[in-house]
Amino acid sequence: MSAPPITIVGGGLAGSEAALQLADAGHRVRLFEMRPTVKTPAHETPLLGELVCSNSLRSNDPAGAAGLLKEELRQLSCRLLDLAEEARVPAGQALAVDRLKFASVITKRIEEHPNIEVIREELTTLPDEPAILAPGPLASPALMEALEAFLGNRRLFFFDAIAPIVDADSLNMDRLFFATRYNNGEPDYLNAAMSRNEYVAFYQALFEGEKFTPHGFDAEDKLPLFESCQPIEAIAATGILSLAHGPMKPRGIEVPGERREAFAVVQLRAENADRTAYNLVGFQTRLTQSEQKRIFRMLPGLENARFLRYGALHRNSYIDGPRVLSDDLSLLERPGTFVAGQFAGGEGYTESIALGLLAARFLILRLKGKEIVNPPIETAIGALWRHVTQSPIEPLQPSHVHFGLFPPIMARGKEAKRKAHIARAREAFGPWLETLT
Ligand SMILES: Cc1cc2nc3c(=O)[nH]c(=O)nc-3n(C[C@H](O)[C@H](O)[C@H](O)COP(=O)(O)OP(=O)(O)OC[C@H]3O[C@@H](n4cnc5c(N)ncnc54)[C@H](O)[C@@H]3O)c2cc1C
Repeated sequence: MSAPPITIVGGGLAGSEAALQLADAGHRVRLFEMRPTVKTPAHETPLLGELVCSNSLRSNDPAGAAGLLKEELRQLSCRLLDLAEEARVPAGQALAVDRLKFASVITKRIEEHPNIEVIREELTTLPDEPAILAPGPLASPALMEALEAFLGNRRLFFFDAIAPIVDADSLNMDRLFFATRYNNGEPDYLNAAMSRNEYVAFYQALFEGEKFTPHGFDAEDKLPLFESCQPIEAIAATGILSLAHGPMKPRGIEVPGERREAFAVVQLRAENADRTAYNLVGFQTRLTQSEQKRIFRMLPGLENARFLRYGALHRNSYIDGPRVLSDDLSLLERPGTFVAGQFAGGEGYTESIALGLLAARFLILRLKGKEIVNPPIETAIGALWRHVTQSPIEPLQPSHVHFGLFPPIMARGKEAKRKAHIARAREAFGPWLETLT
C-alpha cells in the first residue's frame, strides 16, 4: 500500500515552500488553500504564495541577520527564494519582487507538480496526518476554533500587539538601573526613572506622534483587543496620567540615590537569557517606525537606542510554540502534525518561508526514520527555530530574525560583533546541513 499523502493547510509562503520541498523529495502532497472561495482580509488574488503587503523580502546582504538567513536558505535549496529570482525587481541590497509575477510562478510550479494536488477548500477541522499546518496570520476562524478546542485558548493567539526591542549595547546604563518592584525577587528588569517634565514631554510627543494605519481590516475599532494589549498611545489618549498609573507606574521601584519614587518608570525586560536585547514592557504601539525611533529615544537611557524590532499591532494568529511544539516543529499532543510559517511564531515573509522549509525537512527525516538534529542556534535559521520552540517569554512574542535572537558573542563594537556573528554562523551551518541528507 502506498504511503498516505501529506496534507498541507495553507498555500501561502510557508505552505508553498513546504509543498515543493516534500513533493520534490518524492512525497505526495494535498495542499488545501481556501482562496478564492473563502477570502482573507489582506490577500487580493487566488494565487499561491501571495505577498500581502510590501514586495520586499528584506535585505539580501549576508552582512546582516536577514541576509544571512537567505544565504542559509539558499544552501538548503529553498524553492521560493529560487523562484523569487525569476520575479526580482531592482531594489539595491534588498530582495524585492514583482508580487504578481512571484505568486504566479509559485502557483504554476505547484499546480504543474505531479506530486501535488491543490484543493481549493477551507479546512475547518484538524487535518489527516501526516500534516503541516501553515494557515498564516490570517488563519480562517473555523480552523482557529477547531484548534482552540484542541490546544485551549491560552496557547492560541488571534492578534498581536508587540512592543519594540532594543539592542542592549545601545543603552545608556548611566541612566538605567536594575530593580524589581517592591524588591520582590531578582532585579531582572532594567528601569528608566522619569521626572514630571520628562514624562509630560514624552506624553505630548506620543499623543501627537504619527500612527500607522495598515490595511482596513485591522483598523483599531475592528480589533478584538484585550485590555492588556492596548497600544500605549491608546492608553495615553484616555488621560495624561493614564500611563503613569499604567505601564509606566513607578510604584515600588526604588531609584538608586533617591528617597522618593520617580514620577514614572519605564521597564525593560530581557528578551533572551543572555540579555543582549530588551523589550520595552507595555509599549506595544501603532506609531510609525520613524516616530518610534524619535519618541522612544526621548526615554532616559534610550537616547541612542538601536531598534532590533519595532512595535506593531495587527491581526496575527499564531500558537505559543515553546509550550505546544516539539523540537521538530510537530505538536506535542499530535506528533504527526507539524506547524509552519508565521503561524508557528515567526514574523515576516522570509521567516515564514524558512519555517515552511524547516517543517518540511523535519517531516521528510521523520518519514525516513532518520535522526533529526536541531539547527545550531548560532545560525540564523537556528536562532529563529530556537525562538519559536524555546523562547522563555510566555506567551511567545513572534519575531523576525535579528542578532538579538542569537547567542551573545564576544567582540568590541557593533561592526565587529556583526562580523563575529556571521563567521560563527557560517562555521556552524555546514556540519548541520550534512545531517539533513
Ligand atoms: C496585513 C499583513 C501585512 C504583512 N506585511 C508584511 C510585509 O510587508 N513584510 C513581511 O515580511 N511580512 C509581512 N506580513 C507578515 C507575514 O510575513 C506574511 O503574512 C506571510 O505571508 C506569512 O506567511 P505564511 O505562509 O505563514 O502565511 P500566508 O502567506 O498568509 O499563507 C497562509 C495561507 O493559508 C490560507 N488559509 C488560512 N486558513 C485556511 C484554512 N482553514 N483552510 C485552507 N487555507 C487556509 C490563507 O488563505 C493563505 O493563503 C504581513 C502580514 C499581514 C497580516
